[in-house]
Amino acid sequence: MTVPEGDTVWRAARLLDRALSNQTLVATDFRVPALATWDLSGARVSETVSRGKHLLTRIDADAPWTLHTHLKMEGGWRVLKPGQRWPRPAHTARVVLTTAEAVAVGFALGIVEIVPRARETDLVGHLGPDLLGPGWDPTEAVRRLTEQPDRPIKPALLDQTRLAGIGNMYAAELCFIEVRDLRRLVDRAHQMLELNTRRAQQSTTGDLARGRQFWVFDRAGKPCRRCGTPIRQTLLGDEGRERTTFACPRCQPLPG
Ligand SMILES: [Zn+2]
Repeated sequence: MTVPEGDTVWRAARLLDRALSNQTLVATDFRVPALATWDLSGARVSETVSRGKHLLTRIDADAPWTLHTHLKMEGGWRVLKPGQRWPRPAHTARVVLTTAEAVAVGFALGIVEIVPRARETDLVGHLGPDLLGPGWDPTEAVRRLTEQPDRPIKPALLDQTRLAGIGNMYAAELCFIEVRDLRRLVDRAHQMLELNTRRAQQSTTGDLARGRQFWVFDRAGKPCRRCGTPIRQTLLGDEGRERTTFACPRCQPLPG
């Protein structure tokens, strides 16, 4: 199982948008201490959008509110029929939004907060161009990446203020496939995420068969698809925020 990437979050936004938009909430349950007293039942959901890896669910109650959620490492939203058994343990649920026809449950969410809609910019204004956003701007993404010329490319790709939507998997894959030309790298990232919004199974190789979806990600010890050298798993990233990554030591002599 992979961690949520931009396309995973985009698909979660679509799922919530289809299930909840223009529906009245008959019950709400926010299972985080800061929101324990909140009740938005009777409110109407206008839409859910993604911005990078952030989810914004816009809810009209006495005032226009935005429910901000983030999947972080383990989170996921599921939309169920009323009474349907939950696919994950109930104690991991952080938000439950119920309409007459659907129950949307956010499991293991990394962020759950409600802000006045006018303050959405405070939540997502720092993000770089959104790879799956309506205003995707590859030139600006390249400009932001070039602002820090000494920084290794992989942590730069993971920095959501440079461009938004890339997680561990895409960072590893992109650095294996294309690192010489930043514009091509950024275009390739956009193409990969875009393709994966249309299918339930992520792939960067074009092959959807289990074990063949990725070039290097999650393939430690397995032979490189180009040269046969065992793929190496290492820690990489800004100090204190290192992440596991994967690279071919032969094809990528200077990983990162
Ligand atoms: Zn190789």
